Order: sequence, then C-alpha cells, then structure tokens
Amino acid sequence: MTNLDPTQTPRDGAPAELPALPRRSILMLGVGLLAGCATSGSQTARMPSPLWPDPALFTQKPRVPLPLPAAPTLAGVIPRSAWTKGTPAVDNIDPMLPIHWITIHHDGMTPFLATDYASCAARIELIRNGHRGKGWADIGYHFIVDRSGRVWEGRDLRYQGAHVKDQNEGNLGILCVGNFDHQMPSWAQLAALDRHLRVCMAKFKVKAANVRSHQEWASAKTACPGRNLQAKMGGIRRAIA
Ligand SMILES: [Zn+2]
Repeated sequence: MTNLDPTQTPRDGAPAELPALPRRSILMLGVGLLAGCATSGSQTARMPSPLWPDPALFTQKPRVPLPLPAAPTLAGVIPRSAWTKGTPAVDNIDPMLPIHWITIHHDGMTPFLATDYASCAARIELIRNGHRGKGWADIGYHFIVDRSGRVWEGRDLRYQGAHVKDQNEGNLGILCVGNFDHQMPSWAQLAALDRHLRVCMAKFKVKAANVRSHQEWASAKTACPGRNLQAKMGGIRRAIA
C-alpha cells in the first residue's frame, strides 16, 4: 500500500528531509523546527469542511481494522509508555507488512550529547511531537538508540513506519539520536545498534544486505544518517552478516 493518492488526506509515510545546514543555522533553528530526520514541509493537515457535519467524518473508514495482534516485544527495549503518553492516530496509519528491510537514520537536529534517561526521553518526545505536528500518525521510527546504548520503542511494530520516502512497506526504521554530520556516534550507541540489528534480523529474518541507511535508498534524497554514521555502514553490515 502506498499513501500517494492526492485526493486523500495527506498521510504519513513519505517524509523528505531538510538539506544539510551550516552549523550556525542548525543552532538557530531552535526546537520549533525540530522534527527528526524526516523533516518535511510538504505535508499539511486537511482543512475541515465548511459543511457541518463534515461528510468526511462519515465516509472515511479507519485504515487499520482494530484490534491488530499484539506487536512482538523485543528484549531490552524500553517501552513506549516510558517516554510518552501520546498515542498514534490509528485512522491515519497503515498496518505493518512482513518486514524485509531495516533502515537506519539519525535525527539530524541540533547535535546531542546527553546520555541521561530524562534527556533522551525528552529528545524522543520532541521528535514525536514534530512528526505529529505535521499531521503524521505518530513518530516515524520503530526504535530509537540513544548515546548511552539504550534502545527505546517508537512506533508500534504493528504499524508501518514513516521514515523513507515511498519505501515504508515492510521497512523497520531505527533512529540513532544525534546529528552525525556534526558529531560522531558514541561507541555505546554503535554497540547497541549492532545488538539491536541482530535481534531484529533474527526475529524478522532480514538479511544483512537488506539493512540500509536512509541515503542508500534511491528514492531518498537525503544526507541521513549523516556522514559520520554513513561511514560506519559498511562495517555495520560486515559485523551483522
Ligand atoms: Zn533518515
């Protein structure tokens, strides 16, 4: 399924990204524009109908018949409930298809060095709020890896992610917090990414060759996951192969 019918409410799932910005520009962006690696100005919410009651309220069916089966729980992952009370907009989200791909991202926001629990939770919530503010159903990524090596649950794995333009079907998204055009990933973060990739590859039978960075998708015109993490991709794939 794709989300490209222009007659429909704009849907999450086809984010583009900000071009690389000079460091000073990034510092001046502030939190107001910060919305994770999948920042895009192209998505706007549908305006309410001038008619009342809005006929769309009665013609649009939820896209996901609920309840879906429970998402698999993966060992060592901090549950979503630990960092947000926000829930996904289930009428604007697709069910996850069988997982064949894993894609790695950075958040591309201001460089981030914090390792404490509260700061990391707040960073993830900031990204979720940015994505929701664009009318997307939820944070776009399924997992988030912080600089101390924690792995956090993002979008419920029952739902398709929103992290690679036109390539979200069966594609599990992992975000490494930070901006790796302007900082290095930490060793703890890389080790946790390696561990979590192995867990996901085993759980969903994904080959190492199907583990990509965001910019390795031809449809993605992006610098994500930043040059300093992109430089690690070959080693990451060799390690998990
Ligand atoms: Zn990305």
